[in-house]
Amino acid sequence: MPTVTAPAGMRSTILVVEDEAGIARMVQVLLEARGFSTIVTHSGSEALQRMADHPVDLVLLDVMMPGMDGYEVCRRLKADERWRHLPVVMLTAKDTSRDLVLGLEIGADDYITKPFNTDELIARIKVLLRVRGMSQEVMRRNRELRALNAVALAVNRSLGLEEILDGALAGVMESLGLACGLIHLSEPGGGPLVLRAWRGLCGTPSESLRTLSSSSGWGWKALEGDEPTLLADAAGIEELRMPPGDSPRPLGVIPLKFQDRRLGVFTVVGHPGQEFARDEAALLASIGRQVSIALENSHLYTETRRKAQEFEALYQVSRTMASTLDLQNILTRISETVSSLLHAQAMSLMLLAPDGHTLSTVAGSNLFDEGLPGTGSGEVTHGNNPSLVAVREKRPVTVPDLSADPVYGIWLQMARDRGFVSFLAMPLIVQNRALGCMNLYMTERHEFGAEEIQLLSTFASQVAVSIENARLFEEARQLAITDPLTGLANHRQFYHQLAREIRRAQRYKRPLTLLMLDLDHFKAFNDRHGHLAGDHALRETADVLRQNARSVDILARYGGEEFAIILPETDLQRAAYQAERIRSAVADHVFRSRETGEEHQVTVSIGVASVAQAMRKTEDLVHDADTALYRAKAGGRNRLALAPVREGEAAPA
Ligand code: GH3
Ligand code: MG
Ligand code: MG
Repeated sequence: MPTVTAPAGMRSTILVVEDEAGIARMVQVLLEARGFSTIVTHSGSEALQRMADHPVDLVLLDVMMPGMDGYEVCRRLKADERWRHLPVVMLTAKDTSRDLVLGLEIGADDYITKPFNTDELIARIKVLLRVRGMSQEVMRRNRELRALNAVALAVNRSLGLEEILDGALAGVMESLGLACGLIHLSEPGGGPLVLRAWRGLCGTPSESLRTLSSSSGWGWKALEGDEPTLLADAAGIEELRMPPGDSPRPLGVIPLKFQDRRLGVFTVVGHPGQEFARDEAALLASIGRQVSIALENSHLYTETRRKAQEFEALYQVSRTMASTLDLQNILTRISETVSSLLHAQAMSLMLLAPDGHTLSTVAGSNLFDEGLPGTGSGEVTHGNNPSLVAVREKRPVTVPDLSADPVYGIWLQMARDRGFVSFLAMPLIVQNRALGCMNLYMTERHEFGAEEIQLLSTFASQVAVSIENARLFEEARQLAITDPLTGLANHRQFYHQLAREIRRAQRYKRPLTLLMLDLDHFKAFNDRHGHLAGDHALRETADVLRQNARSVDILARYGGEEFAIILPETDLQRAAYQAERIRSAVADHVFRSRETGEEHQVTVSIGVASVAQAMRKTEDLVHDADTALYRAKAGGRNRLALAPVREGEAAPA
């Protein structure tokens, strides 16, 4: 009979347990002739011992043995997790139905009586081995499904990155019975692989394990392919710092990718002596795909949520901005919001001067001089300055990398010196008119996506509208309180200011004096030189008053050719001194007609009155000053007259 030998590695090993040496020898020869490996033992306890360190595929078990009989051995095998699925064939001379039933009840898989037919024995062994192979395959598939299911459950339970990573680690390690696992994720923009989650490492991970820079091998190499890399021994990977001297631990490195984007690597390490099954790579690959999809979902979710939050915050700011009309307040609020929300480490707002080509910085955070190096001014007026270009061309100008931009690089030297890498200038446009721009500076390289630009320009147009509203409001307010001919406070504003100053003076017992001025014979001036020359003289008189006033003094055009000057913190005596200076300044001023070039003189009479504690009405002080003015006129004009101090109410010094 030709010897049939199974190919190396495919031979099944059969454990023969038989106390009678002759029969044992015969069975051994028979089996080996048919290509099986054998281990022969002569007692139950010896069999159990040998099995502990020799893997076998089937047990041929004699029933009648001294000491532990075959039933007992079978019972123990079936009770042990390691051998429960090992096929056991009982071999006995007894041929009664009672023994047969007992053996099968205990869990034996088949039963052969001695003397046996050789072909029948071999046939039965082969059937059992084939069934064992199939059940092993089913068990393996089961294990795979369990692992996949565990990972799927874990990673889909949450959209939070940390939970996904932890869940994936736990799911894989528990279901595959692994010793440790690590997940590295790649940093945006092609940075290193950074360790984001781990389990089962002995000790804290080393620095070199925390960050796999692109030069260091295994993680990056695994990412180049699509399939997991399996290694027989993790000891070869230094960063893992596996304790020495153990049996080899298998290692798998699973690339995590989504549509060719490299998300990271998932590394698993088995226990010493553990072996990855033939199909382990396929299983690890599908686990990798699961984790990658979960990571991508989490990323999308986080991005969407971040955008939504940004948008919400910007919207809130725009809303409150729209209800504020104070320009400085608006500018401050914009700069606060923008820098915190848009991840810009510095920002500035520049407004265009009325000349239409000078941009100057009016607010910002982390501000620095944005002019050209050396000019020392926060103004830009010409050339290819990116903010100017944004305003001139009414489009955003983006510079992702300041050091590599040939056009704008030079203009952004100051920013570069301060460590900024990326820049954006977004014009502020209202009704197709650019008011200025918003500049953002980032310390990390940043590509501005279309969506981001869209969001920013929406915000910028809100900003522009708010700035424009505040400006219009300010203009209207100025118009309402200013005399258009002279630019001084008008009659209404004069009374408003005077009332306030009187309240303050009385409350703090401080001096306050009012000058009422009236041009002399101005009707005659008009008659002689014309109304236009009269207007011109009024404007010039206002200029002379300004030149002779302190910054705290309040100048107003009271009416026609009458002016009023409120002098806070000034008593009658000092006010008289100041009034005299004004009188002589007007008298000395040469008024020249723009049309004819003729020179004229104008004089002014002034009434001076100080506040008293007993004054109840604003009009009282005006009345006193007016009365004094009347006396100055009566006294010959081009002079001043002081109102008498009200009786018993001397103004405080
Ligand atoms: P007196 O020295 O007594 O003040 O003589 P007066 O002529 O200045 O006084 P009166 O009140 O009679 O006349 C005031 C003149 O001032 C009348 C008006 O023509 C002129 N006047 C008032 N408002 C304006 C103005 O806005 N423009 C011009 N050009 N003239 C004005
Ligand atoms: Mg008058
Ligand atoms: Mg007059």
